[in-house]
Amino acid sequence: MSDELIHARVSDRLTKLRLTHVVTRLDSLLSDAARADVTYLDFLDRLLDEETEAKQRKRVTMAINIAHFPMVRTLDQFDFKFQPSVDKTLVRELSTGRFVANGDNVLLFGPPGVGKTHLAIALGRAVVEAGHPVLFTSATGILAALAKASTDGVLNEKLAYFARPKLLIIDELGYLPFEQQSAHLFFQLVARRYEKGSIMITTNKAVTEWGSVFGDDVVAAAILDRLLHHSHTLTIQGESYRLKEKKKAGLLRNSNQTTRE
Ligand code: ADP
Ligand code: MG
Repeated sequence: MSDELIHARVSDRLTKLRLTHVVTRLDSLLSDAARADVTYLDFLDRLLDEETEAKQRKRVTMAINIAHFPMVRTLDQFDFKFQPSVDKTLVRELSTGRFVANGDNVLLFGPPGVGKTHLAIALGRAVVEAGHPVLFTSATGILAALAKASTDGVLNEKLAYFARPKLLIIDELGYLPFEQQSAHLFFQLVARRYEKGSIMITTNKAVTEWGSVFGDDVVAAAILDRLLHHSHTLTIQGESYRLKEKKKAGLLRNSNQTTRE
């Protein structure tokens, strides 16, 4: 059989086996192998390595889309020197995704602008890369969704939807106080996920203030009891990064003025 026919058959079978990356790379892989005079085993190893890598990249890209992160933020972009109060060792440990495998929760405390959302997104991405499904939501978004589901008589389905991902990230809890119905809905969500899946929460309120956030000390205590049972806390104390950026911009403007004068 001619080389051309064999090539066509190989491409066809690779496609049927869904080894789609190798199909597009076949010619260059073949010519690289011919030039470098590699063994059959090396060639096969290289081919499978590329396909595995490509499949992993595709899986991560899809899982990141499903996670609904509001923007791209990574741990590499986080300036730990600017925020020395952040426990870098704990962040590294959390980025392995082991806490998700154990069903532990993560609470990120700190004032506005110190990088809570940045770290939540970055850790969420790391957890996706470690192979766990993640969903990112805001406290107001998730409560609006649960309240609507309750009105529409489909609360159970909605709770099931939010219980599914291995890690549920709830951003910006406490910026707006809850109505009493919201506090009960939130309790149901936390109870549903308790010891089944991890929750990561970012908040500007210390736990002592959660009673006023939820408008009900008893519900707040019940929620905290479940959240804190198996949990890691990261507390960020420091200056707002947004403010630092603004100050820097201000300084730059000043120096421009100086040069113009
Ligand atoms: P928070 O959620 O605590 O209010 P954000 O995470 O939204 O703060 O941070 C505000 C902005 O500053 C974001 O664009 C974020 O990427 C950036 N930022 C905050 N802290 C850092 C940091 N230590 N290094 C790099 N960028 C940071
Ligand atoms: Mg935030």
